[in-house]
Amino acid sequence: MKKITITKSAGFCSGVRRALRLAQQTARSYKNIYMLGDIVHNPRVVSNIKKTGIKKINKLKAQRNGVLLIRAHGAQKSVYEKAARLGYKIIDATCPMVKEIHSLAKGYEQKNYTIIIIGDKRHDEVIGIKGNLKNMPIIISGRKEIKGIKFEHVEKAAIVVQSTQNQDKVKDIVEQLKKHIKKLIFCDTICQPTRLKQKEIQLLPSSQDIMIIIGAKSSANTKRLYELSKKINPNTYWVNSKSQIKKNWFKDKVKVGIGAGASTPDYIIKEIEAFIKGL
Ligand code: SF4
Repeated sequence: MKKITITKSAGFCSGVRRALRLAQQTARSYKNIYMLGDIVHNPRVVSNIKKTGIKKINKLKAQRNGVLLIRAHGAQKSVYEKAARLGYKIIDATCPMVKEIHSLAKGYEQKNYTIIIIGDKRHDEVIGIKGNLKNMPIIISGRKEIKGIKFEHVEKAAIVVQSTQNQDKVKDIVEQLKKHIKKLIFCDTICQPTRLKQKEIQLLPSSQDIMIIIGAKSSANTKRLYELSKKINPNTYWVNSKSQIKKNWFKDKVKVGIGAGASTPDYIIKEIEAFIKGL
């Protein structure tokens, strides 16, 4: 008999829940709804959203009575402007915590601070933060990049952080930046749901025989949870469906810990929990 422990914070964060709720409400009230990219990094959630009639597009085109749904990650100012020009009605599902990052960064930019974003350059959230600023910010995704940056002209800087970054990694980058910039303001914008997830995933794996982290391979926050857990418990596996689970992982294992990324729906967690129970 397996003893399964699921972290309290496993699965959707408040921002993703809100975005999905808004998407469903919008689908009930409008036709011709479009989204630039996937609503979350999870193929099953994406396919369910598709069934509601919301279409994924890569580029905004003129569309009669079009509705544009902005995802939880947010978007750059130019997207709102172009959508308005083309006559779209905008439904903004940007997570309030991401909006807060936008407003902090804009506020410091207005006070002539250079903005530094700690995050993944290619991630939509970072593209959105950058795209709401007037000047080009410095984007740092890892401490190694600091060496190649010229800070001579940076008199004062304000740091904001992509909401799902790893707390220890960010602290380390901030410490390095202190050596280069005298006046440095650090806005720790890692969101509360991410902090809770990271805290739980640093506590649970040491008491478990095996850890299962659930989320799509495209989910960056799931990847971070997996890495944190794997460091503590080498018997950590990353899956997105029960079909990816191998029975031999569980040989002689009793205590099974489960964590899941912010884009993992409860039904996938429940399916996997039931599958493990049945082994
Ligand atoms: S991870 Fe945090 S900031 Fe991002 S959508 Fe979820 S709650 Fe909002």
